[in-house]
Amino acid sequence: MRKPSALMVCCALTLTLVGCTTSEQADSERVKQPQVTETERPAETPAEAPTDKEDKAVEEAPAPEAEPPAEEKPDVEEEPTAEAPAEEEPTQTPNEPLEQNGTANLNLDTLILVNKQIALPAGYQPPDLVTANIDFVDTATGERRMLRQEAARAIEKLMAGAKAANIDLKGTSAFRSYDYQVQLFNNYVARDGKEQAMKYSAPPGHSEHQTGLAIDVSSASVGYQLTQSLEQTKEGKWLADNAHIYGFIVRYQRAYEAETGYMFEPWHLRYIGVEHATAVHKANVPLERYLEQLMD
Ligand SMILES: [Zn+2]
Repeated sequence: MRKPSALMVCCALTLTLVGCTTSEQADSERVKQPQVTETERPAETPAEAPTDKEDKAVEEAPAPEAEPPAEEKPDVEEEPTAEAPAEEEPTQTPNEPLEQNGTANLNLDTLILVNKQIALPAGYQPPDLVTANIDFVDTATGERRMLRQEAARAIEKLMAGAKAANIDLKGTSAFRSYDYQVQLFNNYVARDGKEQAMKYSAPPGHSEHQTGLAIDVSSASVGYQLTQSLEQTKEGKWLADNAHIYGFIVRYQRAYEAETGYMFEPWHLRYIGVEHATAVHKANVPLERYLEQLMD
């Protein structure tokens, strides 16, 4: 009889405790901002009479365009010098007069001032017109799709920014030659009389569109018309809130009507560069007044 001598019992009891980490997905309530939180600007404060004029002039006078804006050289670099800031602006010295011999001072370059009183030199044609690569309404053809190079690039960025925010805009009219403005203005005068026409159009030589730095834009929501009701649309509000980021100002504001002589034009954008546009937007003053303070 043999009995199994060795009885080996192996008991392995492993208790594995599996820790359950309940990774609670804290649903961090993300406050989604619907790209535009439009705080409608109330009527601008008209009372910036005595104080701010001097303050502004002092601060802003010395360095008009000293630092390179964030959006420098995205594609084409054309600066010959290595350390030149993105937009060299050699001509923008303070104390430069806004007009010379009664005509606009071309040396001011993208800050040029053209208005009811100050005209462009006879036959002025911008030096560097290019076609802006953006969506235009069909009626805008040929040179009416053109802007000065810097402004053209800027409006392309603005339109890209708009698209990204689901804002639908198209250009309706950019550059206008002197001759074109002659026709346009004469048509308006024939239709509405000169006094009326002067409120929404410019006599030849006095249109910002002739500088190659202005563009009218509109949206499908108002049938791409140039109408003040653009202001009420999300596109118009987006423009009012964001144009300066791309270097444009809404040039003719409701609050400046008396000062500029123009009716409110929520569609008319004027390029003056990011730095200045941002300053104008913040100060909420007409370009005329901003430039006077800057040049003081
Ligand atoms: Zn316009």
